[in-house]
Amino acid sequence: MMEKIAEMKGLTKSFGDLKVLQGVDLDLYKGENLVVLGKSGSGKSVLIKILVGLLKKDEGSVMVMGKEISELKLKELNALRLKIGFSFQNSALYDSMTVRENMEFPLVRNVKNLTRKEIDTKIEGLLDSVGLPQSINQMPSELSGGQKKRIGIARTLILNPQIMLYDEPTAGLDPITCVEINTLITQVREEYNTSSIVITHDLTCAKATGDRVAVLLDGQFKAVGEFSEVFENATDERIKSFYDYNF
Ligand code: ADP
Ligand code: MG
Repeated sequence: MMEKIAEMKGLTKSFGDLKVLQGVDLDLYKGENLVVLGKSGSGKSVLIKILVGLLKKDEGSVMVMGKEISELKLKELNALRLKIGFSFQNSALYDSMTVRENMEFPLVRNVKNLTRKEIDTKIEGLLDSVGLPQSINQMPSELSGGQKKRIGIARTLILNPQIMLYDEPTAGLDPITCVEINTLITQVREEYNTSSIVITHDLTCAKATGDRVAVLLDGQFKAVGEFSEVFENATDERIKSFYDYNF
């Protein structure tokens, strides 16, 4: 029996008349990469924002690391959030800061009494992991799109998150860089023992990084399982066409 690190049950969320999530059931198991697929506007970003407490659910339950998100006091929620790395869609580095300063910022803000050496060791270790040790003193403007993404992922890892949420990590990148980022996501999981949700439109990414994929359709997960299971046995025309369109 695999251990769950997050669990959503009967989750609903509307904005006015717009019903976005309509009874979402989804488990994230410890150590897995779960890919969430769904067309634009289907509620993927809303879902993970609810998971980190950035948006409030309407109904249902959302358990993260054994705690019901909606029952947490602000202080407890903030403490839990530090254990969740959120790589935002279009997540930007601070343009006026070097790579080092970008990475140092969340660390010194959240962890007190670190020595200079501890901070540097941490930053250098992460930059090594993402393959950019030489970029430490560069400005974001000097980096390519793929390199910025790598630094963004490294920055997200600086507080040792147990869960990583990647919102469209390969959007806007060329195909070769996409493959590199996919490899990095898999590598992060192995090296840092994270459990991840990867939101993507990119089925190549899903196949490469996902232990399981979950397809969000009409506000619910209509198919959840291994990639081949979900697509080779798909009966729903929309899931089939999602596949046909990508391959
Ligand atoms: P995607 O699957 O592309 O990530 P989103 O989760 O961002 O889609 O959005 C799902 C729907 O919810 C969209 O129609 C979007 O306009 C709407 N939505 C998202 N956030 C808000 C908000 N804060 N207020 C009102 N509507 C929102
Ligand atoms: Mg989105």
